Amino acid sequence: MPQTHYSTCSLCEATCGIVVETEGRRVLKIYGDENDVFSKGYICPKAAALQDLYEDPDRLWEPVKRTTTGWRTISWEEAFDEVAKGILVTQKAHGRDALAFYLGNPSVHCLGIMTLGQLFIRSVRTRSRFSATSVDQLPHMLAAQQMFGNQVRIPVPDIDRTDFIVIVGANPLVSNGSVMTAPGMKSRLKALKSRGGTVVVIDPRRTQTAAIANEHHFIRPGTDAFLLLAIVQVLFAENLVSVGRLEALVDGVDEMRVLASETNPESVEQVTGMDAESIRALARGAAKAKRPVFYGRMGACTQEFGGLTAWLLNVLNILIGSLDEPGGAMFANPAVDLPGLASRFGLKGHYDRYRSRVRDLPEFSGELPVATMADEMLVDGDGKIRGLVSIAGNPVLSTPNGPKLESALAGLDFMVAIDPYINETTRHANIILPPTTPLERDHYDVVFGLLMVRNNAKYAPAVFERQPEQRHDWEIFAELWARLQKSGPLSKAKSSLFKRALLRGGPRAVIGMALRTGPHKLSLRKLLKSPHGVDLGALKSMMPAALATKDERIHLVTDPYRKDLARLHASKERECEFPLRLIGRRHLRSNNSWLHNSERLVKGKEGCTLLMHPDDAASYSISTGDEVTIASAAGEVRVGVEVTDEVLRGVVSLPHGWGHSRSGTQTRTAEKHAGVSMNDLTNDAAIDVLSGNAILNGVPVRLVT
Ligand code: SF4
Repeated sequence: MPQTHYSTCSLCEATCGIVVETEGRRVLKIYGDENDVFSKGYICPKAAALQDLYEDPDRLWEPVKRTTTGWRTISWEEAFDEVAKGILVTQKAHGRDALAFYLGNPSVHCLGIMTLGQLFIRSVRTRSRFSATSVDQLPHMLAAQQMFGNQVRIPVPDIDRTDFIVIVGANPLVSNGSVMTAPGMKSRLKALKSRGGTVVVIDPRRTQTAAIANEHHFIRPGTDAFLLLAIVQVLFAENLVSVGRLEALVDGVDEMRVLASETNPESVEQVTGMDAESIRALARGAAKAKRPVFYGRMGACTQEFGGLTAWLLNVLNILIGSLDEPGGAMFANPAVDLPGLASRFGLKGHYDRYRSRVRDLPEFSGELPVATMADEMLVDGDGKIRGLVSIAGNPVLSTPNGPKLESALAGLDFMVAIDPYINETTRHANIILPPTTPLERDHYDVVFGLLMVRNNAKYAPAVFERQPEQRHDWEIFAELWARLQKSGPLSKAKSSLFKRALLRGGPRAVIGMALRTGPHKLSLRKLLKSPHGVDLGALKSMMPAALATKDERIHLVTDPYRKDLARLHASKERECEFPLRLIGRRHLRSNNSWLHNSERLVKGKEGCTLLMHPDDAASYSISTGDEVTIASAAGEVRVGVEVTDEVLRGVVSLPHGWGHSRSGTQTRTAEKHAGVSMNDLTNDAAIDVLSGNAILNGVPVRLVT
């Protein structure tokens, strides 16, 4: 008998409502839910891949163990016993920090990992914690922690009411937001333009978003901080600063004037490639618009000065009076009050409380930069990592210098992966514990409620019941916790939180409790009776109540940024032997490395190509379709070229998440469409030393001729 389920696509930040038609244990059809209160029927081509993930013949259903003769299926009991033993033995023999955790990007879309998973990880005492945060949004979180006192109090563009948006290093038409949860961005940007608003894109590539913008300015990769600082200078020089309602709360406006005073538009023309008049016009346009907002994303964050760039975006929104104002950069008020819970449980975030052992890099909120994870595994000494628990991640493809990380993983004493695939990373594990996939588990967007451009809440029960031989990720954590707590290595306080969450019934009960105590006082019952979600209204001003700094002030300038400006200015004089700069790019039909085993998403035109400007191509006598070798300080790859004036001269672009030709994986479709890994070129040795974030954009490269 066919059944209709209303659910949420959990493949990216946009949280689109979907309808899943099923019969028995088969998916018949997936399409957009027109009645979804937030996405109103919008979906992208990736949503259908939820079916492919569920039906994938390559996915694992039961635990497997690596043996000398290959992978062997083992029982869950045997697997849990061996994994618990591996964790205990590693920590007992070599100390707590010898065991590391890595949390991949899909984990933020997973209710079980965001609730019991987080509690489990925190209850295992180790400082060797890493995640995809430090190849992604870390600079935004650092800026939120430094300026507003809470790492999860991140402002998002009020896209449906703004009349002037400056988009820096972001392609929301393809990402559907990103640190701005906004399904159907094309319609939202079109609506912005039809109400007389202006869209300005700053990017080294004429992206899909740039193509429909009112203005697009090419900029040299990695130089956004210079541009933004010059805009700050113009605002002060032309008396355009107007902080508005929050003025009495903001400290540091005068200091900001001084810090920007030397950086006029003329002084950054050469380094950014943008002419001074365009920079001035941009500053004036933003200052004079009624509801302006600055927004930046991956290209802005994952570069040499990503920390400064994310900070300056907030600084600009404050100086033009846009912070916390309708149409500006606003704060969501999620039904599960993550900022409030972070305050209550001491998780508002901290920075540089300790440093990494090998390279002396700052921690952020208890995590070390993932760009140094391989160093911590390879370099001998007290605290060397000997064991790893990798959860929903493929860092060999998604973090800098994949080949180095691969050799580090191969040398570990013990590794467990919680993942449904044998991929480029998990192939190094001793044991793989496969959890259920998205259609088989309940879904609630714990994290993205923070970033939504309109407050709403939706709880989607699992489309399919899990089978007896399967385990949810939170059940995996529960089994490991049960074994470890008997032997006593867990933090008592964190462990008791885990126990309470478990006794109350797991993630669903945790969400029920959080909804009841949240700002909208919702109940799980109400959400379960509202399969299309509950609309909670437009974003509203949240300051000063939402401020979490000790002195209840907004800190425009703090020490880390003050100091890092010197590094920015010094970089102007630097010379480099590599003539080209590599940037990443995102494709609507791809999401990091984890959807390449879906035939419907990878078929058709080759997605993993190197974009190159016609002038650069001519100087090397290269045409579209030619294969070239491109090299960086970290390594080299051979890839086909696509000649296009979409990229700035001197810039080349590769999409990320590819490179499925390594041996030992079991993802047959992905292997047929292998591509090359951009992270065989990115350099783990060069990071944004302020935030600890990886540099994935503006990587110096050259063609090997
Ligand atoms: S934009 Fe696509 S991948 Fe993202 S949630 Fe919506 S349907 Fe899923």
